[in-house]
Amino acid sequence: MKIIGLPALVGTYDNYIWVLYQDNKAWVVDPGESQQVIAFLKLHNLVLQGILVTHHHFDHVDGIPALKKAYPDATVFGAQKTNNAHIQVRLAEGDVVKLTDDFRLQVLDTPGHTPDHISYYNDQALFCADTLFTAGCGRLLGGTVEAFSHSLIKLRNLPDHTPFYCAHEYTEDNLKFAIQVEPNNPELQQRLTNLNIHYPTLQTEALGLLKNEKRTNPFLRFDCEEIKAQLIQRGANDTPASLFQTLRNWKDQYDQQS
Ligand SMILES: [Zn+2]
Repeated sequence: MKIIGLPALVGTYDNYIWVLYQDNKAWVVDPGESQQVIAFLKLHNLVLQGILVTHHHFDHVDGIPALKKAYPDATVFGAQKTNNAHIQVRLAEGDVVKLTDDFRLQVLDTPGHTPDHISYYNDQALFCADTLFTAGCGRLLGGTVEAFSHSLIKLRNLPDHTPFYCAHEYTEDNLKFAIQVEPNNPELQQRLTNLNIHYPTLQTEALGLLKNEKRTNPFLRFDCEEIKAQLIQRGANDTPASLFQTLRNWKDQYDQQS
């Protein structure tokens, strides 16, 4: 299975629409737009088989009607809880979406950004949309801090070698915040030094391995000693939900100032 990221809503939300394809078949994750997807499919002689939705936000679903018009046989998958009339197959934790005999994706419940958010996972790819970003995470837009911290810990428990695909390109801003949270992390310093983002061109590789996120993303590290000490100084108590909430608030303040 090949996986390619098409930039979408460039300059505003800076999304990635991930296209998976093999032989003449393709699947797409979170099409917030349609024109670049249709152009890519036509260029490569691909027929859209399925649309995988992670949550209800417009920047993840607004391309669905045009894609369904162009490819009426494509099946739309999404969470049981997601409010979107185009979804045909309703998914929950533990369900499996079979793209080919060799490529199946497990459904993980990952609420927090929104209550309905799911992720799609196998040992070759994690599509975690707005739950976990490169060096950051999504904002709280309807979910709870308890759910979000639990979802992040769930993703952290997946294998290190998992290639990682999120829905937005916010790496640079996220890393600038991360280094304030954890200035003495050598791998984080290295990541910032080596920063080389090609967005909004086609993204032909994963955004990295989950291992890199576990070692440098503060939102997977809010309970490590150095970060925890700072969060407790900022008023957190020693629970995942409180540590996460304090870190998320800190990032929201940082975003307002920058
Ligand atoms: Zn969202």
